[in-house]
Amino acid sequence: MDQDQIRDLAQAVKQARHFVVLTGAGASTESGLPDFRSKTGLWRGVDPVSLISMSALRRRPVEFYQFYRMRFSHLWGAKPNPVHHVLASLQKEGLLKRVITQNVDGLHQAAGSEGVIELHGSLRECLCLDCGRSFPARLIDVDVQSAADIPRCPECGGMLKPGVVLFEEPLPADAIEAAIDEATQSDLFLVVGSSLEVGPANQLPVLAVQSGAQLGVLNLTPTFVDHRARWVIREKAGQVLTALAAELGIPARVENRSTGDLGEATPG
Ligand SMILES: [Zn+2]
Repeated sequence: MDQDQIRDLAQAVKQARHFVVLTGAGASTESGLPDFRSKTGLWRGVDPVSLISMSALRRRPVEFYQFYRMRFSHLWGAKPNPVHHVLASLQKEGLLKRVITQNVDGLHQAAGSEGVIELHGSLRECLCLDCGRSFPARLIDVDVQSAADIPRCPECGGMLKPGVVLFEEPLPADAIEAAIDEATQSDLFLVVGSSLEVGPANQLPVLAVQSGAQLGVLNLTPTFVDHRARWVIREKAGQVLTALAAELGIPARVENRSTGDLGEATPG
């Protein structure tokens, strides 16, 4: 690892007035969560992307829910990794203002991050398509074999959907607005584990740079904003952030606290 880059980044973190981090799937792969866009571990030979749309939920609800059950089976066992821990610690030390995430796994919150902006919603809750109420995800983590098993809203009987943004659905406007606000205010913006292939999240670093922020990119593969970044580090984000925490002299994780949010959504 390039210690000079880490030292320089640490210096910038110390001096930053408004430090914001954007995380993507790469932040959670070290927790063992598969990137469902990758072509490995395919779901019964079906392209999972075709199943995570509103129309699939309406037209093929049985397969839709079976696919989500598979996702849940990975989710419940997943634990925060050094990426989540160091970011929570940076925030606790007052060095990091906000985490914006494209992930839906809730692992930032589980590590102790506060006020996380979830651009793509959360897999830890589900929503009623009719009345809009939200419930813990365990309501849809059920064995669906036929149409009769499709989970229904306990309040109104409407169809439930995962609390994540599906294809053919707009991103949550309040989250987008908050993220744009953070990017615009930031003077240091760090991309962690995102290839920046999905909009509008991939416009946030651009917006930050246009607003005068310094940009860093921690990702294993190149991104379209690398040429605008002061730091480009293509190593495992967990290792880089752990080194950053060491350079800053802060703990690499927040003291264990109640993981109420996490526990509540856990089935059983
Ligand atoms: Zn309802």
